[in-house]
Amino acid sequence: MRFFRFSGFVSMDLAIDLGTANTLVYIPGKGIVLDEPSVVAVEAETGNPIAVGKKAKEMLGRTPKEIRAVRPMKDGVIADFEMVEEMLRGFIDIVYKRRILRPRVVVAVPSGITAVEKRAVRDSVEHAGAREVYLVAEPIAAAIGVGLPVDTPMGNMVVDIGGGTTEIAVIALSGIVTNISIRIAGDEMDQAIVNWVKKKHNLVIGEPTAEEIKIKIGSAFPLDEEKEMEVRGVDMMTGIPKTVKVTSSEIRDALKEPLDAIIRAVKQALEQTPPELVSDIVDKGIVMTGGGSLLRGLDALLSEETNLLVKVAENPLQCVARGAGAILENLEKYRKVITTAGRE
Ligand code: ADP
Ligand code: MG
Repeated sequence: MRFFRFSGFVSMDLAIDLGTANTLVYIPGKGIVLDEPSVVAVEAETGNPIAVGKKAKEMLGRTPKEIRAVRPMKDGVIADFEMVEEMLRGFIDIVYKRRILRPRVVVAVPSGITAVEKRAVRDSVEHAGAREVYLVAEPIAAAIGVGLPVDTPMGNMVVDIGGGTTEIAVIALSGIVTNISIRIAGDEMDQAIVNWVKKKHNLVIGEPTAEEIKIKIGSAFPLDEEKEMEVRGVDMMTGIPKTVKVTSSEIRDALKEPLDAIIRAVKQALEQTPPELVSDIVDKGIVMTGGGSLLRGLDALLSEETNLLVKVAENPLQCVARGAGAILENLEKYRKVITTAGRE
């Protein structure tokens, strides 16, 4: 269904990457129209929404008791139904500005989620106003977003490192042949930094600060030029604010555990993959997507550990949304990759 605007034909349908860290919305013919943190703030008493996205993220950890700011997605799945609905409504309002007829919606979901969790996503999106909901596994959306041919017999390996989950998948003939999903990704890296700074510097910092450290100086592989930054927190002993200097090499140590877990999972996925497809992956390499793939030197580390070619997708944070958008624009062509699971 389409409606007319002066700017031309604009489809009402939309594709959503409902991520643990970020939600992106894609509209056919327009591209990505929304890219916001998956956070919602509501009045504690009434549950009425106050803010979504960036505005709500700024409130995290800073709210007075009348306001509740939460990340309703955890480990790639819905942790708080009502809050997800509020968040989606908020985003859809931003996208459309005014209420319009109920859209068809493609939603990318983690490949490892259960039928019950799929149902939950479908319900939330329907309650938020959708007419028709199609689910697609994130790794397939990511692969399509990267531009990989998913319907050929050739195997492609995609490693998507998001906020809550790392999804490793080998895709061939429009399906997922091998799939490993672990609940270790960007958030765990942040947590590892919080713990490290506490242990080594007796300094208490919040997760947003840890994320900033990760993005500014974090790395998975020795850097040509090591970096450092000043970090402000609270002294564990005295409770007094304190500033310390942290280096990229110590943050690398801090990140070792979550990174090892990700590497192990990739190796395990390779072991579980049929040899013919492994040989395709040897030829073509691994593609990394998701925000976590932006960690400096993670491609080098993964390549060293697997002996395979590894490349980070262009715009890794947008691959899933672009892929879900492409599916929506070609529903017939991609019929095989979408599921109506949870409906029956
Ligand atoms: P999700 O799909 O789970 O919402 P995203 O693909 O949006 O996740 O990625 C979000 C994660 O990527 C966050 O943990 C964020 O800290 C991390 N991230 C974003 N940019 C960088 C960067 N430059 N270096 C390392 N991690 C990053
Ligand atoms: Mg994602």
